[in-house]
Amino acid sequence: MTGYCSNSPLRCHHARSMMVLNQADNNCPHCGMSLIIANNSNDRLRLEQQLLQLSLGIMVMLLLVLVYIYYVYLV
Ligand SMILES: [Zn+2]
Repeated sequence: MTGYCSNSPLRCHHARSMMVLNQADNNCPHCGMSLIIANNSNDRLRLEQQLLQLSLGIMVMLLLVLVYIYYVYLV
């Protein structure tokens, strides 16, 4: 299958370059770590990133609303 090396970029130059590897045994030829499937995991990563940004935005908005309510009731 094709994919990226899942090792830390500090430990493997294949992971650092995000090079797409095509290995029959699903392991990086440099460090032996298993590969991350190229297309699927990229889509999932993007989705997870969007979800994370959305939840972060909601949290910031909630915090602002809480601070606003706090000020309204105190002043
Ligand atoms: Zn590697």
